[in-house]
Amino acid sequence: MVLREQKKIDIAIIGAGPSGSLAGRQASVNNSDLSIAIFEEHKQVGSPTHCSGLIALEGLLNLGVNRNIIQKKIMVNEIKRARFVAPNGNSFQIDRKNDSLVVLNRKSLDQYLAMSSERAGASIYTNHHVKEINFDRNKWKLLIRQGKNTKKIFCDILISAEGSKARLAHSVGLYRPNQNWLFPAIQYEMKGLVDFEPDCSELFFGNNVAPGFFGWFIPLNEESARIGIAVSPVHSGKTRLYLEKFLHKHSVIKMRTKKAKPVNSYGGFVPASGPVKKTFLEQFMLVGDAAGQSKATTGGGVNIGGYCGRLAGKYASKIISKDFTPLQGCREYQKQWKSCFEPELSIMKYLRRAISYLPDNVWNDLIRIAKTTQIDNSMKSTDIDLHGSGLLRYALQPKVITKGLKLTPQVCLSFFRGFLI
Ligand SMILES: Cc1cc2nc3c(=O)[nH]c(=O)nc-3n(C[C@H](O)[C@H](O)[C@H](O)COP(=O)(O)OP(=O)(O)OC[C@H]3O[C@@H](n4cnc5c(N)ncnc54)[C@H](O)[C@@H]3O)c2cc1C
Repeated sequence: MVLREQKKIDIAIIGAGPSGSLAGRQASVNNSDLSIAIFEEHKQVGSPTHCSGLIALEGLLNLGVNRNIIQKKIMVNEIKRARFVAPNGNSFQIDRKNDSLVVLNRKSLDQYLAMSSERAGASIYTNHHVKEINFDRNKWKLLIRQGKNTKKIFCDILISAEGSKARLAHSVGLYRPNQNWLFPAIQYEMKGLVDFEPDCSELFFGNNVAPGFFGWFIPLNEESARIGIAVSPVHSGKTRLYLEKFLHKHSVIKMRTKKAKPVNSYGGFVPASGPVKKTFLEQFMLVGDAAGQSKATTGGGVNIGGYCGRLAGKYASKIISKDFTPLQGCREYQKQWKSCFEPELSIMKYLRRAISYLPDNVWNDLIRIAKTTQIDNSMKSTDIDLHGSGLLRYALQPKVITKGLKLTPQVCLSFFRGFLI
């Protein structure tokens, strides 16, 4: 699609990830007369991929993605159990009810969402990098680079769905997600794996595996899986080294990878900073990873960011239709998303701080206690996207407190270390 110089549009969206595309789709669905443009810097939506694709089905359905489409075009596997493995190899597992957790082809999801926002009336401009944004005389001005050309665009409402670095939002004075809580990650998609359960995803904890975060094994079928790790930013220079060690030295994983080959490698930053305090300005809304709308415990952000993207699209269209003044509408967006998600996201943020700097012996104890106090019973029907309060309720049970009391000093130490960062 060709973009005219000096074009004036109603709503501009930066980034065609799930949050941006869903914002565009919702605004177009609410009012098909609006001119809406989504700018994506990459040549293709959804590529390069930086995701493991493990997602709660319920949350995805709440984004308005049809179950049939998910099953036929986007989903690659169904997960029935999640196993949590301690540094000493002990583990507990949580069984999920049928099809509650699915593994997706993330590129297909992003492309499907972008296409559905186009069908609703939004225009998507790939290979368009938004270089600069400024607010001037009640309009946002965007400087956009496409190849060697730079163009100016004006819009009434700007939605930034630019991902966790949030460079542009930061450039106009908004706080962005705390960059010290973006965990560098590398993941391989491997083929030729043996000796694993194709319907069980696993998380591996420990300072030799993935200091600060965890390693994961997410099966795609009987012989393939996504295997990755994220580490705390102080170890960022050694991320690949940790992954190689995990693949070839970890007592469980090395048995599976003996004859396996990587067919793909992805990198990225797992967002674990927690929700951003202020996510709007005059005629401006911040959504998705850029607003810290992801789970700090696991780094998952597709469903919550996507839901908030829809809210931003809804309020953007209401502002243009004059149901709200620009400032009222943007403020209402923040009020709505915070009332839906901020308490849960904040609990997850504090949990992340409490567990990021634990020594291995504490991890071993925590996993043993979780198993003996039947964490699986407490968590198996918890909403995967909103698991913060479920975990807190579980941890506050008298039997858990009694068994976990001796770990309190080390958990507190990790928590305070986390806060100093
Ligand atoms: C290794 C890894 C594994 C993950 N696994 C999971 C998982 O299993 N489940 C889950 O739910 N989440 C997972 N996540 C998190 C998930 O990927 C994010 O939460 C999600 O992508 C956020 O969507 P978004 O639309 O806010 O941002 P993004 O998906 O990051 O999209 C932002 C888009 O904006 C574009 N952009 C940025 N700046 C500009 C600019 N200046 N001009 C134009 N375009 C721009 C980018 O190219 C990008 O396409 C994982 C993340 C990583 C790194």
